[in-house]
Amino acid sequence: MSRFFSNKFASLVPYTPGEQPRDKKYIKLNTNESPFPPSPAVIRAVCEEATSLQLYSDPEASVLISKLAEIYDAEPERIIATNGSDEVLDFAFNAFCDNEHPIVFPDLTYGFYSVFADKLGIPYEEIPLKDDFTVDVNDYIGINKNIVIANPNAPTGIALPLSDIEKIVASNPDNVVIIDEAYVDFGGESAIKLTEKYGNLLVVQTFSKSRSLAGARLGFAIGSKELITDLHTLRYSTNPYNVNRMTCAAGYAALTENGYYMQNAQTIIRTRGYTKSELEKRGFEVLDSKANFLFARHPDIGGGELYLALKERGILVRHFKKERIKDFCRITVGTAMEMKALIDSIDEIMGEKK
Ligand SMILES: *Cc1c(COP(=O)(O)O)cnc(C)c1O
Repeated sequence: MSRFFSNKFASLVPYTPGEQPRDKKYIKLNTNESPFPPSPAVIRAVCEEATSLQLYSDPEASVLISKLAEIYDAEPERIIATNGSDEVLDFAFNAFCDNEHPIVFPDLTYGFYSVFADKLGIPYEEIPLKDDFTVDVNDYIGINKNIVIANPNAPTGIALPLSDIEKIVASNPDNVVIIDEAYVDFGGESAIKLTEKYGNLLVVQTFSKSRSLAGARLGFAIGSKELITDLHTLRYSTNPYNVNRMTCAAGYAALTENGYYMQNAQTIIRTRGYTKSELEKRGFEVLDSKANFLFARHPDIGGGELYLALKERGILVRHFKKERIKDFCRITVGTAMEMKALIDSIDEIMGEKK
């Protein structure tokens, strides 16, 4: 740290992204990216747009937003596009939370929530998941604090039904409830419709997972006109051209070929089922995932040990050191062939342990 670094960040522990190693080619099952490339129209759109890169992007991202409005059946005024959904989460924490308006979230969830709160000096409380790693809805009913819940949750993959989300939102009318739906296309139920009825609900989604655009950085949020206006105020006070030209074009083109992406999501759901049952046959406990990853543990091998043994064999998965989940690995669902390679490697590893 330099001697100039502000004291307010002295104890900030930044988020640790999943490894993106360059030393050799891995089967990458560690950051929940899509195994499928962007569709041809996306690649064409990006190339075409590159010829106009001397010009700023549209600060309103209006073409992209109109298309999102059409697909999600919401007025454009109720949608904001951002540089990854991490950015809209940062705006939302900034816009709606402070000392008088703390935020709560599960103890096991997306690691960025506590980092944003720490960075912004927002008080927060982590509410333990139940022993079976599900969210106890009763913990959030009438809690009278801002709430962020990933649904489906990460790294567990477990989803809450929409009826539970509605109970949480309805019972906290004076607080903002953020539902992070990064994985919703893999079997969850979106709360977007509920934003018509509840002015305190903000639904956040991303193009990074189901739409094969992690590298383009595109996220969006849908909520009441008032909430979205506040987020635009922060956006215009931070980075008005937050979504670059190529990403706007890529996102729009992806939405014109929505069928391709939703079909890929169905393929991943099928491969997830196959992988889960193969892991279970081998004695793994696998949580019920509605996401593009599986969270699994085995009584005979620790999560850290399995992670390392797989890495030696050229397969990357994610291991978290947190006490409650240190026995688990989070495994992104890739192609059927990648998952076959994973299972074969696990057979080798477990065989050698005997
Ligand atoms: C991946 C992920 C995001 C962030 O995605 P971006 O790439 O920033 O759009 C947000 N929330 C959760 C729970 C995620 O897993």
